Amino acid sequence: MGAETPALRVEGLWTGYDGRPALEDVTFSIERGCLAGLVGPNGSGKSTLLRTILGLQRPWRGQVWVFGGRPERRRLGYTPQTESIDWAFPITVFEVALMGRYGHLGLLRRPGKRDRQVAWQALERVGMADKARRRIQELSGGEQRRTLIARALAQEAELLLLDEPFAGLDAPVQHDLLHLFQDLAAEGKTLLVATHDLSCVATHFDHAVFLNRRVIAFGRLEEVLREDVLQETFQRHLLLLSRGGQIYAEHP
Ligand code: ADP
Ligand code: MG
Repeated sequence: MGAETPALRVEGLWTGYDGRPALEDVTFSIERGCLAGLVGPNGSGKSTLLRTILGLQRPWRGQVWVFGGRPERRRLGYTPQTESIDWAFPITVFEVALMGRYGHLGLLRRPGKRDRQVAWQALERVGMADKARRRIQELSGGEQRRTLIARALAQEAELLLLDEPFAGLDAPVQHDLLHLFQDLAAEGKTLLVATHDLSCVATHFDHAVFLNRRVIAFGRLEEVLREDVLQETFQRHLLLLSRGGQIYAEHP
């Protein structure tokens, strides 16, 4: 037994669609306080894996443990890929952040002063407090994504599962978000961030899971960021250049 129960442990996980596997025998663990990238090209199963951890997709086989126990939805902060969301009804940025508090409320209890405070602080952390009264439909994709991250923060979950949070953000906002993630990890939260953006992970993350239907490698970044791992994960989606003993990766 390890010294401490990992924040997340996935063992022998299989799932898929219409009888075709999207994940094959996926096994890895993430220690507490890690900022971990879930890295793979489009279609490699990243979103499927996060949804299966959350219980939104049924596993065919295998197990998931969150802090050594069964995954409970309210203990997991989650932001889906925003392309998968249909903002059907009018709701403000603040109301979305406040939704993060619902798991903390008892039956029929309305959000109180502290709930509103926590939601407000979460919006401040993602730089959305000045747009708190705006309707979510009126915002850019990047602002919607930051609002969803605020909702996950308002939940005060210890494990955050974030699906492509950088997609469509301009460089300065992406940079702020990366620093926020690093701060959260330093505060002891555990983050698993799905992204196809290898360079983001290579420069700012401390751990990674490389996925292409199977787990190619997982662990500390300096141990898994290797040419053979990148080649197997990205295959023709990545061009590797070797220059003076250093490996450079490019998305062709
Ligand atoms: P990623 O998030 O890495 O891009 P996904 O988990 O979205 O990968 O998809 C993994 C595989 O599962 C892909 O081949 C994709 O086409 C397939 N897939 C994902 N969602 C569905 C779905 N709802 N129905 C059928 N196939 C799906
Ligand atoms: Mg995806």
